[in-house]
Amino acid sequence: MKLTMLGTGRAVVTGCYNTCFVLHEEERYFLVDGGGGIGLLRRLKSAGIEWSRVRNMFVTHRHMDHIMGMLWMIRMICQAAKRGEYEGEARIYGHEEVIRILKEVSCMLLSEQESRFIGKAVKLIPVEDGEEQEIIGHRVRFFDIHSAKAKQFGFTMDLSENDRLSCCGDEPYNDSEKEYVQGSRWLLHEAFCLYRDADRFRPYEKHHSTVKDACGRAENLEIRNLILYHTEDMDMANRKRMYTEEGKQYFSGNLYVPDDLETIDLEADECSHDGTQEEENGEDDAVMEDQHVRSIRTALRTVRGETTGRDS
Ligand SMILES: [Zn+2]
Repeated sequence: MKLTMLGTGRAVVTGCYNTCFVLHEEERYFLVDGGGGIGLLRRLKSAGIEWSRVRNMFVTHRHMDHIMGMLWMIRMICQAAKRGEYEGEARIYGHEEVIRILKEVSCMLLSEQESRFIGKAVKLIPVEDGEEQEIIGHRVRFFDIHSAKAKQFGFTMDLSENDRLSCCGDEPYNDSEKEYVQGSRWLLHEAFCLYRDADRFRPYEKHHSTVKDACGRAENLEIRNLILYHTEDMDMANRKRMYTEEGKQYFSGNLYVPDDLETIDLEADECSHDGTQEEENGEDDAVMEDQHVRSIRTALRTVRGETTGRDS
């Protein structure tokens, strides 16, 4: 299983895309959140993922930076289905409120000729707190994170018999999620800003964490690999370095602060990047080339036995 971050930013960002990601294995794709708009389609293209192959999706909550991109997926699917160019179906999971909004807004914005494919080409599937679904061949359990802002679900996915990947959505972990999250091999957790910048960005009044908070929680939860996302975007060139430096003081496992379009191999417990900053250059070919170079470097490191080389 691999994870590709399409976006890593908080709601109002311009230096990167809003937080959303794809879990993928053997050409099967599970998209989690859509970000704030058509940037989702651009990010999928840059990542080399054909939008029409993404057949499983999940929206954590109704906020614009998570749900709006999914409307574009629904539009793309319905229009392709109308042209007779979409075989099979896609499934979008979410709690009842998310599903109701996706359905109502899509029907308001799309033509009747398009929206009639909702429920056919694209199935909107409400899930309950604690519900299990099989998605891209793995058991996924959804759970309510008991947000005070907008109803929000996270999830945990079984990677193998003993390993799980858990996602707490865009709010801090709380103990109601313990049975799903504790001991996960991988945890995706928000980190709004550095602890030393808390006065500047005020994460707590927005129900968000600092890097220090997120790392301390992950340490207590015996997480092996922690991925931080949903951050501010004031210094993208130094975000990875600064967040990693602060986080390492509070977390003893592998800490990842991915940039947009970074892919992490969840089997290798090693990031497939070379530690340099990905530039936002708008050139899809250049991005594809970068990814190619990164995979060669990762392969070389593996051959040389540098299995802990991700921070070098
Ligand atoms: Zn958000």
